[in-house]
Amino acid sequence: MLKKQTTKISLQNPQRFTKQQKPHKTTKRSPRQALTTYRKKRDFAKTAEPIGGTEVVIHNELAFVIQKHAAGHLHFDLRLERDGVMKSWAVPKGLSLDPAIKRLAMQVEDHPIEYNTFEGTIPAGEYGGGTVMLWDQGTYHYDSDRPDDLESLRQGYAKGDLKLVFAGKRLQGSWALVRMRRCDPERPQWLLIKRRDEFADSQTDIVEKYQTSVTTGRTMEEIAADQPPA
Ligand code: MN
Repeated sequence: MLKKQTTKISLQNPQRFTKQQKPHKTTKRSPRQALTTYRKKRDFAKTAEPIGGTEVVIHNELAFVIQKHAAGHLHFDLRLERDGVMKSWAVPKGLSLDPAIKRLAMQVEDHPIEYNTFEGTIPAGEYGGGTVMLWDQGTYHYDSDRPDDLESLRQGYAKGDLKLVFAGKRLQGSWALVRMRRCDPERPQWLLIKRRDEFADSQTDIVEKYQTSVTTGRTMEEIAADQPPA
């Protein structure tokens, strides 16, 4: 009798129960496996986005890229290279240089390394339809004194606590990317925060300041029209 009732209670909230029990994915996957979701979401006959996995990429330094993406809602995409793919987050409001401001960063599917040079327009009606601008690019490293940077990065990611140093054209210095505890493991939400250093700046709105592509100098309108910069 008692046993039967216990079962009934857990079945009333099956989603809540499984979500809390399920650990965050920390197992290492090959880039091919990691890109399965990315590829499923897209029709490469229609979008010019890269399929990925076409080149073997060996970097001494890890790449980071930020793309401005005018999809249904304008947002910024933060991508960090790790283990052969770009770990990716959609940041609705973009980044802030003010350490007092926490920006929501919603983790999305891993993207291919080749995405780092993608700028253009995804056709309307396709997944992520809208214009994509390369907003910043460069390298990053894990902010630690430990000798094995990459292992620290993997561990930090598993723990949901990343301290990153960006060496970009527009963004530099130390940042924190922290996973929120109470979130769906399938759609993890993180907070992106500028850490206090000489690059912290509570006066400058970096999103407002840079309105053109970091590589081609084009505005969103020029990219959408497939035109060179004015
Ligand atoms: Mn996006």
